[in-house]
Amino acid sequence: MRIDLHTHSAVSDGTDTRAELVANARAAGLDVVALSDHDTFDGLAEAVQAGTELDIRVLRGIEISAEHDGTSVHLLGYGCRADDGPLNDELAKIREGRSGRVPTMLRRLAEAGMPVPEDVLARYVGDSPSIGRPHLADAMIELGYVADRTEAFDTWLAEDRPIFVKRYSVPLAAGLDLVRAAGGVAVIAHPWGRVSRDQLPVEVLAGFARAARLDGVEVDHQDHDAATRAELRALADRLGLLATGSSDYHGTGKVDHDLGCNTTGPAVLTEISARVAERGGVL
Ligand code: AMP
Ligand code: MN
Ligand code: MN
Ligand code: MN
Repeated sequence: MRIDLHTHSAVSDGTDTRAELVANARAAGLDVVALSDHDTFDGLAEAVQAGTELDIRVLRGIEISAEHDGTSVHLLGYGCRADDGPLNDELAKIREGRSGRVPTMLRRLAEAGMPVPEDVLARYVGDSPSIGRPHLADAMIELGYVADRTEAFDTWLAEDRPIFVKRYSVPLAAGLDLVRAAGGVAVIAHPWGRVSRDQLPVEVLAGFARAARLDGVEVDHQDHDAATRAELRALADRLGLLATGSSDYHGTGKVDHDLGCNTTGPAVLTEISARVAERGGVL
């Protein structure tokens, strides 16, 4: 059984439509795939429907923009009720923060000699409910300012680069509680990837685990090297946290994140399903 619990469609910053993503997941030999777009449930109904048609199980996920001690942390939620009021209010706030900083970034880009016309940007935003830096990066590629998303981020858009503008993210503790209250299972995405273990130290993960607020950590992820995976897996064992593995697929938007490049064990999925059922969520 091949299970990939973290993928993105064009509803956030992936490049596949929901139907393409599900078809590609099946072609990659996956039995189960979770759609986990950033800060929105918008693509889930259509992806689940496509899964029924193509005979592959599609799970309802989300990747929420959170922060801890001023550092950006990504929180995966599985099986959250998509109509949960408090969670949706928070997601709307996050999306408004993401889109709200775009005019400032567009002004900075123009000042740097890289004007991005709104219609070009709009083509890449598509029907995504918020505008993210990957959409800006795609517009910059089309306009010939950069070769790819990596260059766009490394030169202009990353946190320490000139175009970056900080945005609102939910405090991690509140995010964990919102996910669980919405019936979901809370897993921290790539905890020691782009964010270092100094910023999200063992004590913090242990604290959330002991307080029974956190269900798991994503161990097998392309941003973790072999040593990091081994340490994180041992830590998850010690703390009684679930250890997941996934691709973080973004279509052509992220290289080396092919569907199924990392997977989650069936026993972990069984436990996730049991917890969602217990909490009244919908996986
Ligand atoms: P935003 O939501 O506007 O803050 O943009 C964050 C998104 O940009 C994340 O979802 C990542 O998928 C993507 N991202 C962050 N850093 C990079 C990078 N160095 N290269 C490509 N994509 C990135
Ligand atoms: Mn992304
Ligand atoms: Mn992430
Ligand atoms: Mn992701």
